[in-house]
Amino acid sequence: MIKHTRTAIISILIASSFSIAGTSATIADSKLPDPATAGFSEKLYRLDCGHALANDESVWTPGENVGKSIEFSSTCWLIKRGSEWVLWDTGVPQAAVNDPKGWSTLPKLIVYHLDKTITGQLADIGLKINDITYVVLSHTHGDHIGNVGLFPDSKIVMQRVEHSWIYSPDGTNDNVNQLKALARTLMGKPKYLQLVDGDTDLFGDGSLTLVSTPGHTPGSQSLMIHLKNSGFIILSGDVVHLEKNFEKNIVPSLNTDKAASIASMDKVRRMIGTYHAKLFINHDKAQEDMLKLLPAFYD
Ligand SMILES: [Zn+2]
Repeated sequence: MIKHTRTAIISILIASSFSIAGTSATIADSKLPDPATAGFSEKLYRLDCGHALANDESVWTPGENVGKSIEFSSTCWLIKRGSEWVLWDTGVPQAAVNDPKGWSTLPKLIVYHLDKTITGQLADIGLKINDITYVVLSHTHGDHIGNVGLFPDSKIVMQRVEHSWIYSPDGTNDNVNQLKALARTLMGKPKYLQLVDGDTDLFGDGSLTLVSTPGHTPGSQSLMIHLKNSGFIILSGDVVHLEKNFEKNIVPSLNTDKAASIASMDKVRRMIGTYHAKLFINHDKAQEDMLKLLPAFYD
């Protein structure tokens, strides 16, 4: 039964990518690559960066599943491109590994558990912290930046508006204010900080593209990777948390801008069409559990 459900999810993803293949993303006026000439990254690894239990799914699906608990995955990704190693997101702090109490960004709402460390998973394929040249952050929520401090010599890459936002005055949503305060603590003051503005081709050849997808937070981004055998893969960041949110354009109540969130989901949909891309959704546990896990990789 579970297997059938998972197969169905992948089929939906593939079907949706082809059903809108005719529509074209407006790549001409952006920094998104030309699919015909884009260069390649070599390997894409999925790292297990934890799993979380939330006590009210409706925070992510307003009006639906009120009071129902839900389990999310937390996923980090590692990309090999030439001699560079790029880590996409860092998960919850690895000091919480195997702690039965877990770790939380918003203790009344969600608790994360960690079975593996990033350092341990890197070691499994012969890498050390110092081998990671870039740490690219989808956004500044604690479950994505918990281990930034482990990489003092890596270049930390994020959207400029995201960085300014965590230092901006608090707004009216107390949950959002708490997340910003936690972000300031976890981010610290990176030695090498590279702030980008909007869509950014990281190596100038279309092999790895940061895709601006604001709405969840003001400077949220997704990542598109081009691989020889697997084609284009888009890593969601938190542009969407669950496949069903993507299908129905549902916007979580924690998001800072509902209209921008919907526009970003539309942008990703257009890109799936243009690039025949697969979308890997960070927190959708049913989908992520089906994907290859380090030491296996996509190429
Ligand atoms: Zn988030």
